[in-house]
Amino acid sequence: MKLQQAIELDQTYVAHTYGRAPFLPSHGKGATCWDCDGKEYVDFSSGIGVTSLGFADPEWVAAVSRQAGEYAHICNYYYSAPGEEVAKLLCEKSGMKKVLFANSGAEANEGMIKVARKYSQEKYGPDRSEIVTLINSFHGRTVTTLTATGQEAMHQYFYPFTPGFSYAEANDFDDLLSHVSGKTAGIMMELIQGEGGVVPLDEGYVQKVAALCKERDILLLIDEVQTGNGRTGYFYSYQAFGIEPDIVSTAKGLGNGLPIGAVLLGEKTEAVLKPGDHGTTFGMNPVVCAGAKVVLERIDGTFLAEVTRKGKKIRQALEGADNVASVTGMGLMIGVLPEKGDAHAIFDRCRELGLLVLTAKNKVRLLPPLVITDGELDRGIAILKQALKEAAQ
Ligand SMILES: *Cc1c(COP(=O)(O)O)cnc(C)c1O
Repeated sequence: MKLQQAIELDQTYVAHTYGRAPFLPSHGKGATCWDCDGKEYVDFSSGIGVTSLGFADPEWVAAVSRQAGEYAHICNYYYSAPGEEVAKLLCEKSGMKKVLFANSGAEANEGMIKVARKYSQEKYGPDRSEIVTLINSFHGRTVTTLTATGQEAMHQYFYPFTPGFSYAEANDFDDLLSHVSGKTAGIMMELIQGEGGVVPLDEGYVQKVAALCKERDILLLIDEVQTGNGRTGYFYSYQAFGIEPDIVSTAKGLGNGLPIGAVLLGEKTEAVLKPGDHGTTFGMNPVVCAGAKVVLERIDGTFLAEVTRKGKKIRQALEGADNVASVTGMGLMIGVLPEKGDAHAIFDRCRELGLLVLTAKNKVRLLPPLVITDGELDRGIAILKQALKEAAQ
């Protein structure tokens, strides 16, 4: 298929919920891909932080294909080896106790919110249901996770929204305290706000919030949908902040391209849900889990150290470069604020020059595959610098 034909089909038959850019992939390998006309691109996007092992990782392709040839699905009334193994790896690497499977980030966050509400309501009564989230956060697109998302612009058209959410200013502990009461069941946050513009929270603030939660038996819910699975140079970003969450949600990079979400439950929450309390037909899918197992087995100390090194390399190349006002983020989750020019125009120019990037608010956002090579990094950085430079003119 050619690009023009894809555009026509999309215009005619696909609901217009995305403003798509004119790019039609043919195939990829690692952090390099080719479009339908054979033009080559470096990938600094991984989808949106999804293809952590890049395109067509041989071990991942083999595991997924093998499982698809054995059995692609079995209902959750039975056991399934890939899912059992993924749950074990997630618990061992995170220190959490149990895994609740889902199929996306929003769905993992829904599960996280349900667990928090049930824990608090069983212990303290039905009034204890409120969740405090942060202004400028992003937690998903279902009605409840949209409500959890602390962005006014998103709270339109879909009324009535789920009651019981309030929004505190990020990095302002006094403001958070003013939102907490005897009705608070949980505090939910991303430690680096992704969609909000790659904005990391202060470590001191996060530790104070964690201490408050412990003291008042409020559950600390950490959304690691974008930051998780090695993206920041830590397995989960909370491990960099020295805190122990009660529940963690994750999704994007876990499946390397197949849809998966997971809720990781800690000591307080591991036994909250009972048979019948929650479920999903596709959760713990064997093909998806066979791929996720390859991702999880790959993320060891050496792998994470490489993510950190490559992240530093990008930052060093961009800090002080032409038209760069600031560089934020951690590991291979990076936000670049241009001094002049619109981030979306830079995104378009990068693509024309052979580099796929993302935007987040007024920043250019970089989420390269975690396995990107130094050669690919150098090529991508050169293109990005060129696009930034042009945007200043
Ligand atoms: C992407 C994202 C979500 C939503 O994930 P979906 O898979 O799109 O539902 C939730 N939280 C954060 C932090 C995200 O980045």
